[in-house]
Amino acid sequence: MRAVCWHGKQDVRVDTVPDPEIVQKGDVIVKVALTCICGSDLHLYNGYVPTMKKGDILGHEFVGEIVAAGPAVTRFRVGDRVIVPFPISCGACWYCKHELWSLCDNSNPNSWMMEHIYGDTGGGIFGYSHLYGGYAGGQAEYVRVPFADVGLEKIPDGIPYEQVVLLTDIMPTGYQAAVYCNINPGDTVAVWGCGPVGLLAMKSAKLLGTERVIGIDRFPDRLQMAHNQCQAEVLNYEEVDVAEQLQNMTGGRGPDSCIDAVGLEARGTGIEDVYDLVKQTLRLETDRASALRQLVKACRKGGTLSITGVYSGFIDKFPMGAIFAKGLTVRGGQAHVHKYLPHLVQLVAEQQIDPSSIITHRMSLEDAPEGYRTFVKKQDSCIKIVLKPEHAAPKSEPASA
Ligand SMILES: [Zn+2]
Ligand SMILES: [Zn+2]
Repeated sequence: MRAVCWHGKQDVRVDTVPDPEIVQKGDVIVKVALTCICGSDLHLYNGYVPTMKKGDILGHEFVGEIVAAGPAVTRFRVGDRVIVPFPISCGACWYCKHELWSLCDNSNPNSWMMEHIYGDTGGGIFGYSHLYGGYAGGQAEYVRVPFADVGLEKIPDGIPYEQVVLLTDIMPTGYQAAVYCNINPGDTVAVWGCGPVGLLAMKSAKLLGTERVIGIDRFPDRLQMAHNQCQAEVLNYEEVDVAEQLQNMTGGRGPDSCIDAVGLEARGTGIEDVYDLVKQTLRLETDRASALRQLVKACRKGGTLSITGVYSGFIDKFPMGAIFAKGLTVRGGQAHVHKYLPHLVQLVAEQQIDPSSIITHRMSLEDAPEGYRTFVKKQDSCIKIVLKPEHAAPKSEPASA
């Protein structure tokens, strides 16, 4: 089959690789109909996530049709159209039982790698380095999906793949970011980063009843999209002092909640930006914190920081004193997709949300390298790229077990 493989920093190629096979009794093989390039794939592309190996298949956002199922699979059958959540969850461990799906104890065979650095581990993720289990990803014609009965969600008849492909990650990720804000009517939520997750977090915050959302970015086309699609007020952090401006906009108090949809490749301004870039380049810090520092500074006393951008290690000059003095609540982490999926599918079916409205680029899987280049340079007003495998040569489907 054809698959998008990582070969090194800013080097991805579409290779011909062996088809996946059923390994465990609870596996299915999904024939991928649509798959996306995620902002967090760019951290792999740029070489910021360790433990990638040459030839690793990328991608954790994919939907498609089941073409083979292991003997223990009971909820699904060949021919079902399914949404596959990006975290892999066993459904049986303490964390899965407590709906902390992305923290599954059993789905990451390489958990020892993270335990060493973090003290404990997250679950496995498709196509996201050996740190997250070394699973082959979904930017491919076919994918092996373990624990199928636990993770998958059937796509209701009549809903096209494009409307639900973002439910694999960024829609639930944006939704959880808003849920973590404990929104009350009348609240103001500020969102750093008007990329795909930021936009969907703003839409979710509105859905959950916030009165105002304020989007922060430096790219005019992204700010425009936040304004048009999410009715957001917008700030360009290269033009204004964000914390000061947010205070002015909220009667001197600051936003009730602040969402970080940026993560470890954050850019700031002036000397602070240079400081982070240099330290990260020299490997003296792994993550750049300029967005996070602004969140802490801007948030109102007693407010919430909801961190959904990816961080991988250690950051410098983190204002712990301000978090303490202002009594801030900090929440974050990978989305517990399984928890939100049934509700979000229903919202799509009822046409209350249409996540596909943020898709800007549709390409063939074969053009993935060009897609990565366009996305990483934010060219052509690129927000979200969907790739379609061609399944060109008619071939026999992998046999059902
Ligand atoms: Zn993603
Ligand atoms: Zn589990």
